[in-house]
Amino acid sequence: MINNKKISKFAISIVKDIQNKNFQAYLVGGCVRDLLCGIEPKDFDIATNATPEQIRKIFKASRIIGKRFKLVHIFNRAELIEVATFRSGEDSSNEGSLVKDQAGKILRDNIWGTLEEDTYRRDFTVNALYYCPITQKIEDHNNGMKHIHERVIVSIGDPQKRFAEDPVRSLRAIRFSNKLNFKIDTDIKHAIYDKGSLLLNISNARLFDEFCKIFLNGMAEKNFAKLCTFGLNKYLIGTNPEKNEFTSNLMIEALRNTDRRISNDQSVTPGFLVAALLWPQLIEISNQKGEINLRKFFRSMDRVLRRQQKITAIPRKFHTYIKDIWVLQLKLQSRIGKQPYKTLKHPRFRAAYDFLLIRERASGHRNTLGDWWTNFQKNDDQIKKSLITKLAEENQESNKKFGFSEELR
Ligand code: ATP
Ligand code: MG
Repeated sequence: MINNKKISKFAISIVKDIQNKNFQAYLVGGCVRDLLCGIEPKDFDIATNATPEQIRKIFKASRIIGKRFKLVHIFNRAELIEVATFRSGEDSSNEGSLVKDQAGKILRDNIWGTLEEDTYRRDFTVNALYYCPITQKIEDHNNGMKHIHERVIVSIGDPQKRFAEDPVRSLRAIRFSNKLNFKIDTDIKHAIYDKGSLLLNISNARLFDEFCKIFLNGMAEKNFAKLCTFGLNKYLIGTNPEKNEFTSNLMIEALRNTDRRISNDQSVTPGFLVAALLWPQLIEISNQKGEINLRKFFRSMDRVLRRQQKITAIPRKFHTYIKDIWVLQLKLQSRIGKQPYKTLKHPRFRAAYDFLLIRERASGHRNTLGDWWTNFQKNDDQIKKSLITKLAEENQESNKKFGFSEELR
């Protein structure tokens, strides 16, 4: 049923090596699910009854990671495979410890268990399938196969309780339902409505990871739409799409652009998306009677970033990038003398120009500044010069066309 040729040889060799030491080992989780759905797995995870220390001893190139959730990473030159020890839920009295907070959120989960126990701590039935590539058999204790055939995301256990334990499961349910084109089971829908607000208790670092998984996987637009239906968008992005039409259009255009880039195998960075998604907040603060107040603009950049930081962390390395894209939106406006040449040479020009096009599309204003820059970039020096002179000859007002007026209304 599963074609082993679609599985990483390295992952299969690890399973064999573990089994040869008389432990159990299976491929598990997303890779089994994806293979059964005809999707190419992103990565291959392994589950075993050997402890992290025992695994560590079998593989030279390996390392134990994590505290909340201990795992072993095994590497070769090209790949990294994650090996997790079977865990049991509660009521166990062996070496590890399951620690919960007042809301029932799991803080630490290192109680070892059996394969069957391990299935119950996984989130959804379709994520709880264990495949042995040697016997080619699948272990299925929660009707995962049935739900794959029925194309539905079903929680393992009561979703109200499971989502309180880990509120990120709400986001995961939405992401998987779009990725696999599966329905979300009704009980899960209720749990998302009831427990979604617990996402407030999740660390901004973990939410940044989820932000990337949900918006940089090629399905950003669909995921955003579903997040909005459930009212979860605010736990990932501080900008309210309902603020006005421009804001909602801009957010959708930016997400759509990200999806398009991924489907064209172009690079994507969370920095660009964050810059785009937060832009409406920045211009709202800088808005003074329909014009950008430069002083406020420059002063508010850090404030807008800080506001978002409270929701999702934004790694330091992206801050300058984001601010560059913002400041370049102002620079792209001025096309006098030597300025356009300088702007064109800026290392972030391309990203800033892409963002300009997105802003124009969102404001329904076309054939203006963006087109001018499209022309300016692709033409030779002679024409570049003439583009600037022509602009200077026309009145200065048209120079400002597609100012910020459309966005600042
Ligand atoms: P993908 O890698 O495509 O995002 P995945 O299912 O592999 O999907 P991972 O986050 O890599 O997702 O997790 C691997 C497996 O670990 C999942 O399939 C699931 O069984 C389990 N798992 C991960 N996160 C959770 C969670 N928050 N709660 C319960 N189980 C989880
Ligand atoms: Mg995975």
